[in-house]
Amino acid sequence: MTEATTVPNDDVVVFLPGGGRASAALVPVPQAEAEVNVADLAVTRGDGVFESIGVVAGRPLELPRHLTRLAHSAELLELPAPDLAAFEAAVQTALAAHEPAPELLVKLFHSRGVETPAHTIDGPTGWVQVLSGADHTAARRDGVRVVLLDRGYRSDIAQTAPWLLQGAKTLSYALNKAALREAARRDADDVVFVSTDGVLLEGPTANVVVRHGDVFRTPRTDLGILAGTTQAAFFDTVRARGLTAEEAVLTPDDLATADAAWLCSSGRLLAPIRSLDGASLPVDAAFTAGVLAEAFGLEA
Ligand code: PLP
Repeated sequence: MTEATTVPNDDVVVFLPGGGRASAALVPVPQAEAEVNVADLAVTRGDGVFESIGVVAGRPLELPRHLTRLAHSAELLELPAPDLAAFEAAVQTALAAHEPAPELLVKLFHSRGVETPAHTIDGPTGWVQVLSGADHTAARRDGVRVVLLDRGYRSDIAQTAPWLLQGAKTLSYALNKAALREAARRDADDVVFVSTDGVLLEGPTANVVVRHGDVFRTPRTDLGILAGTTQAAFFDTVRARGLTAEEAVLTPDDLATADAAWLCSSGRLLAPIRSLDGASLPVDAAFTAGVLAEAFGLEA
């Protein structure tokens, strides 16, 4: 991309063809000029799926894992399959059009589409947005304060009530945001959910990893949680170092007694958990910095 094609605005959006859009070309537009139809089911119902991808030095992290998960989420919602090649091209186009920065965030949206006056669906619609992420330096270095919150359902929900779409990254994140506000009310930064049968699950936007000695564990994905791309990359690095990394059924006690624990998510990457319900947890700053560099190319 030449300078002339760089969108001067901070955020860049690229729409995918389809969903009633005339042009098949991937054209970057400034976010302020990007318009989604008010009858798009993503807007009116949250009926769609998305991905958030961290970008370090211009490189989208774990892109194949994110594309696979987008397709899996779409399948769970019985949406038309997303055109993954078009999404990948749109990611590259949007990134090339954005002002370079050490870190960015790229989001992929795949909606059921626009509901026409005749109540047919003119879809699917898809778009990609590149934005400057928040500054996560302090959270990565010093850690985050976490509270446990009741998720209100059992850990076998994905099997007993699949229509609740646990494990899909849907556009309905109002509950996740409400949980984060509750954490703030309790003077904490983040949340780990617990099922009604006492199983440790995930955060509203992150997976949890606990370390006891040389063994790293994360909750199993059949417990109604999202399969994390950041946690998967973390485990690749842990295993490459000859340490043990496994999926397990964990309890709050496993977190409270951990030698170290992290919240893993695409933008923040690894945030050590420095307290749980007000009680301090050990933070391994050197190990965290090493994995951030090795797994994600993030230099301190
Ligand atoms: N769990 C939930 C509910 C999430 O929303 C997210 C990310 O947004 C994660 C886990 C972490 O997934 P990833 O590391 O792929 O961002």
